[in-house]
Amino acid sequence: MPDKRDYYDILGVSKNASDAELKKAYRRVAKQYHPDMNPGDKEAEVKFKEASEAYEVLSDSNKRAQYDQFGHSAFSNGAGGQGFGGGFEFDMGDIFGDIFGDFFGGGGSQRRRNAPTKGANIRKIIHLDFKEAIFGVEKEIEINSQEECNTCSGTGAKPGTHPETCSQCKGAGQVRYNQQTLFGAVTSVKTCNVCQGTGQVIKDKCGTCHGSGYKSERKKIAISIPAGIDHGQSIRVREKGEPGSNGGPRGDLLVTVSVERHPAFQREGYDLYSSKTISFVKAALGADIKIKTIDGEEDYTIKAGTQSHTEIRLKGKGVPHLNNKNIRGDHIVTIKVDVPTKLTEEETKVIRELAQVSGEEVHEGKKKFFDKVKDAMK
Ligand SMILES: [Zn+2]
Ligand SMILES: [Zn+2]
Repeated sequence: MPDKRDYYDILGVSKNASDAELKKAYRRVAKQYHPDMNPGDKEAEVKFKEASEAYEVLSDSNKRAQYDQFGHSAFSNGAGGQGFGGGFEFDMGDIFGDIFGDFFGGGGSQRRRNAPTKGANIRKIIHLDFKEAIFGVEKEIEINSQEECNTCSGTGAKPGTHPETCSQCKGAGQVRYNQQTLFGAVTSVKTCNVCQGTGQVIKDKCGTCHGSGYKSERKKIAISIPAGIDHGQSIRVREKGEPGSNGGPRGDLLVTVSVERHPAFQREGYDLYSSKTISFVKAALGADIKIKTIDGEEDYTIKAGTQSHTEIRLKGKGVPHLNNKNIRGDHIVTIKVDVPTKLTEEETKVIRELAQVSGEEVHEGKKKFFDKVKDAMK
């Protein structure tokens, strides 16, 4: 016979543990190894029994005193060391109300398996171009939808027959069973294995859907994409997901939008950003220019003396707000002043004159061959 483990070690407490500490330790260990939490796990079952035995002894002051003095031999009555002879009595009522009340289905905490349950959500991604996301669009997407089987009208039973109430659970979808523990019989609740918790049994299955009551169908669903939606946001289409069970509603269809980039505009929230390049002459003297916006070209007057990187804010030319499309963000345009890299002879002359007028020293630049010859002959 293998050595029995020390009762204090089993519960993970010290020899001086108070009653409250013992109880707390036992709750923890018993929960961890309870057979309902560890179905089919032999090791857990052994540990659960050990813990129950340890607590039974240590929670009784007389037995605890005997155990402290004599160890396990205090309780072996020579009958083969099952360790639990000796005719102990244990007040089950107390400990079960106390220790297991919170997870033994006492307060109806276990949900009935055949209660109406909402179906799973279906997730889809939809691709939009930049403007579709800004102004909204009607789209159609295709999903694989579980639709009611026409042959059996969704019952899953062969036409002319009906699903019958499960004889094992009488339609409840779950069965109570008694389990022997060291404390006596404990009643637990399990999902009925005959009807898988539905409470109904189909004897003659529908040939079309094989009893499921559903058939998979390609289905087109119209999606109204609201103006202002942004990349990564989702639209919820209620009750277009997987069917619920036991009369529960369908899940939802969640459509996440993926928005294409635009070559000229960047979006940040409800504002749009772009840049506009103008010549240094226009920047210096001012001019009427055209700026591309999401609504088309806009006229804009550049003030004389506009610096490069000046920001122009076009109010209300941005993205409509999702909850109110009459409110729109702004379009911010960064002006870039272009300095020409190639000048004609005429332009060079004029700019040199400008330099002279404003008293700026500039490089002389390359002279033409004949000018050089002329200079040489002077
Ligand atoms: Zn069917
Ligand atoms: Zn059943």
